[in-house]
Amino acid sequence: MTNENTLTGKDTGGLSGFAALGITGALLKATHGAGFTDPKPIQAQAIPPQLEGRDIFGIAQTGSGKTAAFALPILSKIIALGTKRRPKTARALILAPTRELAVQIEEMIKLLAKGAHVSTALVLGGVSRFSQVKKIAPGVDILIATPGRLTDLVREGDLVLADTKWLVLDEGDRMLDMGFINDVKRIARATAPDRQTVLFSATMPAEIAELAKGLLKNPIRVEVAPHSTAAAEIVQGVVFARTKQKRQVLSTMLADEAMKSVIIFSRTKHGADRVTKDLERDGFKAAVIHGNKSQNARQKALNDFREGSVRILVATDIAARGIDVPGISHVVNFDLPDEAESYVHRIGRTGRNGMDGIAITLCDPSENSKLRQVERIIRTKLPIVADHLGSPDPQRNPAEKNERSFEPANDRNGRRDGRRPGGQNNGFGKKRFGEAFAGERKPEGAKPFKGNNKRRFGGKRPAARAA
Ligand code: AMP
Repeated sequence: MTNENTLTGKDTGGLSGFAALGITGALLKATHGAGFTDPKPIQAQAIPPQLEGRDIFGIAQTGSGKTAAFALPILSKIIALGTKRRPKTARALILAPTRELAVQIEEMIKLLAKGAHVSTALVLGGVSRFSQVKKIAPGVDILIATPGRLTDLVREGDLVLADTKWLVLDEGDRMLDMGFINDVKRIARATAPDRQTVLFSATMPAEIAELAKGLLKNPIRVEVAPHSTAAAEIVQGVVFARTKQKRQVLSTMLADEAMKSVIIFSRTKHGADRVTKDLERDGFKAAVIHGNKSQNARQKALNDFREGSVRILVATDIAARGIDVPGISHVVNFDLPDEAESYVHRIGRTGRNGMDGIAITLCDPSENSKLRQVERIIRTKLPIVADHLGSPDPQRNPAEKNERSFEPANDRNGRRDGRRPGGQNNGFGKKRFGEAFAGERKPEGAKPFKGNNKRRFGGKRPAARAA
């Protein structure tokens, strides 16, 4: 009798789960210990050919399980070979576009390598170079790096890549966006010519296809979740508000206790700082993460958010892809991203691991064309959940018709004093939010509030979040 892996069609020899994919011994134990019993589709597709030594070209987003998909085969091979490292070398190199992603990858590898003698090191910009050089001086098994700092270390002779037999490029499209492509090519050229290479990208622009052609040898192509399609569990909607109204609208939304764990995206670093400051002035505790913050500050913000000591994280797009914090209930796009593709990555921070999520986009009339681009990409027209533009007509783009009849959003609540109303439920919880646009595109203003949210949300996240 044969047992077939339904995804690979291969005989599994009576084994199931990760064992059927070829993961054994301590690694299998640690994988189960991490709570991974059933391989995700990308893992089922990518692990067996990688164990056979094939190069991989993967189209998958953060959240698909791609980290374990490339890490497990590398760990498996390094463990089988035993410890043999030359000074200043790395046996495997994983390149990530952002520091946050690199940190997360290392955490995942450490989790999966628990009980095995595999050394890891991080090479990132923005933190002390000295400690990184010291760590790699005796040689490491797996080095996780961002391309900029890695290039510096190689240039200065602190790291030699000639022994690097495994190379992973994670989030290739993001590397491209961030201008790392030439660094990546240079780094790849410095690694062992007979290396095994894995390239993962969430999308496949022509430059990534070109990069794959240059770096991968006869790769196996694996793919999950068709690109540019938002996850099905995420309920999405748009709130029309003028730019100068947005901060008040945001504070009003955040007073809703259904917004347990919220990431707010801002297009610019300056904007992120301003939103954070305004929220703090309104009595909300918020952490902020963007490219001008030091690595320590970024990591602290992420940790505070992950642990629940702040329930609001304000971020720029740099943070959109890498962040993997379980249980984010809401994503709020304070403004629309410059690139419509970023919308998909932003909202993908919620609705993870099969949990529900809500994504709300605040849209000024000047952003209508960006909104249309997003809608084209996700192939859905975003329902209007609230319209603060002062239009009695719920049709899209009402502002242009009502330029002179504009009134502050608070008028809908009968308030003009500029103070943040307190309250518990203004319609942004899943049920109410869903109802708000279950029927027609009916504008629905926020309901009046009662109570003081500063006390409720100023410090700890509610217990439900911590669970
Ligand atoms: P990634 O796409 O690598 O960022 O992984 C997304 C999330 O999926 C992470 O929180 C992992 O802990 C989780 N994960 C990865 N593989 C599995 C698995 N086989 N079973 C359950 N969770 C997993």
